[in-house]
Amino acid sequence: MFARHSLLLQAAAVLAVAVWASAAHAQAFPWRAGWCGLKDPEKLVACAKLIGFNALIAHSTPERMVEFSELARQSGIESYYWFSLSFGGKEREPFRQVMEPGDDKQFVELNADADPAKHGYQFGGEPVPGNHDVLLTPLLCFHRPEVKAFAQQQIRERLEVCPALTGVAFDYFGYQNYRCCHCPQSEKLFAEYRQAHPDLPPDKALDQFSLETLVTFNNELATYVRQLRPGAKLATHVYPVFLPQPLYGNQLDVDYCCQTVAWFFQPYWSAEKIRQYTHTVVDEQARYHPRAVGIPFVGVYVGRPVGDKSPERLAEELRVIWEAGKTSRLSVCSFNEFVDHPEVRLVVKQALSEQQSAASEIKQ
Ligand SMILES: [Zn+2]
Repeated sequence: MFARHSLLLQAAAVLAVAVWASAAHAQAFPWRAGWCGLKDPEKLVACAKLIGFNALIAHSTPERMVEFSELARQSGIESYYWFSLSFGGKEREPFRQVMEPGDDKQFVELNADADPAKHGYQFGGEPVPGNHDVLLTPLLCFHRPEVKAFAQQQIRERLEVCPALTGVAFDYFGYQNYRCCHCPQSEKLFAEYRQAHPDLPPDKALDQFSLETLVTFNNELATYVRQLRPGAKLATHVYPVFLPQPLYGNQLDVDYCCQTVAWFFQPYWSAEKIRQYTHTVVDEQARYHPRAVGIPFVGVYVGRPVGDKSPERLAEELRVIWEAGKTSRLSVCSFNEFVDHPEVRLVVKQALSEQQSAASEIKQ
């Protein structure tokens, strides 16, 4: 009996050291990741090396993902399979989230709005104050066991086919109305939650139920990936926004949690908001999970009717993020803009190079 306890204690100690070592490694690694369309893997990898990014996140056919992940590994760049709950297909339509009639009406009106910027619509980011936004991309309801099984199957198949992948990156894990789902399964689970929490007012209960189940879905899927492939890394982008608590990302037990500190579209976020969000993302990264590293996420589109961030604007945002967070860890979407636009590429290359010099001075 004693021997068995001793073995269990030893195993627990080894596990604790492994988790600590993994957390220490992740926190020492200057992870800089680009979310990208997989048009030309060679150009993407070359650009990442040139400007100082060390991770790329993409989704495509199994064949393209094999090519991309092997090329990335040969070049010392981490590669992640970008998995999204917007990828349903027709056979999963019955598992889509359900919104209230007012949200459905807003969905129809936003879709029909011919203005390219849709009068201040933020496409899944925090709505402009006074606007009522819903996500124009239908999402699967992760309260459904069928959706959990679908997510596991998609991830399992990609990891099996692509041994060179570093890990998996989650995206579009949230609510289409930014708050909750009203499908029969969600309503049933919420009724049970109300019974278990009779003292909570209904609105507070709904917010708490929605957040807890969202966090649990993320964390259970992350655990599944780690069991499937020990050593696989997990990343996520907190999107679409969860309005009752936008910066909940530190509750997610992933290696790299990307939370928006500067969004894609006008009105661009104020320096004060970028500073405040960067502080929260970086300073509170390990409040719940020792391995989690908080990554400031910046949205960059160039030359598009609904988003055209200037190089000067991007430079200013990177400066504020660096000053607030004293971290050169960063995540950007779309990374393809760095490949396609030399003036934007130069901005990020210079910013990262200046930050690295400053960081080495701070260490001395
Ligand atoms: Zn639902």
